[in-house]
Amino acid sequence: MANTNWAGNIEYFPTDFHQPSSTEEVQDLVSRATSVKVIGTRHSFNHIGSPTEVFISSRNLSRVVSIDRIEGSVWVQAGITYGELSLVLDSEGLALKNMASLPHISVGGAIATATHGSGFQNQCLSSQALALKFVLADGSLLEVDKHADPELFQACVVHLGAIGALVEVKLALVPRFEIAQSVFLNVKFESAVNQLMEILSLGYSVSLFTQWKGDCLDQIWVKRLPSEPSPDRFLNGIGASKAQQKVHPILDVDPVNCTDQLDIPGPSFDRLPHFKFDFTPSHGEELQSEYLIPQPYAQDALRALHAHQSAFDKHLLISEIRTIAADSALMSPFCAVDAMGIHFTWKKDWHSVKAILPLVESVLSQYQPKPHWGKLWAMKPKQVAQSYPGLSEFKKTIQKYDPNKKFQNPFLKELFED
Ligand SMILES: Cc1cc2nc3c(=O)[nH]c(=O)nc-3n(C[C@H](O)[C@H](O)[C@H](O)COP(=O)(O)OP(=O)(O)OC[C@H]3O[C@@H](n4cnc5c(N)ncnc54)[C@H](O)[C@@H]3O)c2cc1C
Repeated sequence: MANTNWAGNIEYFPTDFHQPSSTEEVQDLVSRATSVKVIGTRHSFNHIGSPTEVFISSRNLSRVVSIDRIEGSVWVQAGITYGELSLVLDSEGLALKNMASLPHISVGGAIATATHGSGFQNQCLSSQALALKFVLADGSLLEVDKHADPELFQACVVHLGAIGALVEVKLALVPRFEIAQSVFLNVKFESAVNQLMEILSLGYSVSLFTQWKGDCLDQIWVKRLPSEPSPDRFLNGIGASKAQQKVHPILDVDPVNCTDQLDIPGPSFDRLPHFKFDFTPSHGEELQSEYLIPQPYAQDALRALHAHQSAFDKHLLISEIRTIAADSALMSPFCAVDAMGIHFTWKKDWHSVKAILPLVESVLSQYQPKPHWGKLWAMKPKQVAQSYPGLSEFKKTIQKYDPNKKFQNPFLKELFED
């Protein structure tokens, strides 16, 4: 097994590694362990998934269990990736409502950290869950249904790996649909910020990419339903030019691995992520941070970062700006908040990134930033945890199902300490 996360910035030192392929095996492993951590596709950048003793990979828990066409739902094992699942769904004429930038991440890991894509109407991926099946610390099974037990469900859907081993998830489906993706280049930063909400609502899912250099916002990616109007006129009107060939978010990188652009419609699973599923990034030469802020602060926050960009642009590969609709999960950064995500893909130099994060956070501090659970930040863990009004309810849920903190590692203990 790989003993690092995907980015290679976190080393895992398990004493006891397992890759079970059935719920029963997970039950047996968990019940016998005193400390256990389950890991998905290892795409988190911090120690949230680091083990202290028994380390369980969900990689062999990757089956589609059953599809219910009447309800519009699918039960999957939690280790399946969105790419693997989407291929099955597409062949059945079905799809997920939204996806993240990369289809290579596991459903269980994405739900744990409130992973998201973009779109004013699109909630984070945890919100696609309709029911959850956990193996609890004593080895018993807990099934929680969103409609039958809404309070408990919202307390444990964004679970941070702290409730139990998630073995199966029921996800909501929609009929298969198509998306056409086009990219627009080089709009003036101030024009983009002045028209920010209009731009971000130009399609089903919109992302802005910038390297925070000069007065330019580099790219606007519009992913629209074929029935949605073309964004060309509006974007040309504010000075953006439509890319005539495929581009990568970082302009001088070969776009071969990006999903098709140039306004050519294709299945949603092959357009909503920025990167193709059949390209397999085995590791990454990057680090990531992201701050989720309430949408009313969006323009001010971007202007504030722009004023300080020369302090951090040299450490940056690319930055992405997206919108995420509010949800109800206690530990979701989008709980009751329509948010905008400001994401930073940093060069892989933790020493420099660690030094620059406090500045980025101080610039954003007046805009109620919440860091992405799976990425890197400098804020005090306790400060992050306490920014969640649902924290004490979440802690009560953990106490009920994992009283001996079997699923907690130092990262989570620091987060939850009183
Ligand atoms: C290249 C890249 C692109 C990304 N793009 C996006 C994006 O577009 N949007 C976004 O929001 N984030 C994005 N991320 C972040 C990523 O989605 C999250 O870190 C997510 O948690 C990764 O899923 P994973 O399966 O790799 O989780 P892991 O890193 O394996 O685990 C994350 C956490 O979940 C827990 N966990 C995982 N599976 C289980 C389980 N079955 N039972 C119990 N606990 C479990 C782990 O213990 C850990 O605490 C990206 C990351 C990378 C590297």
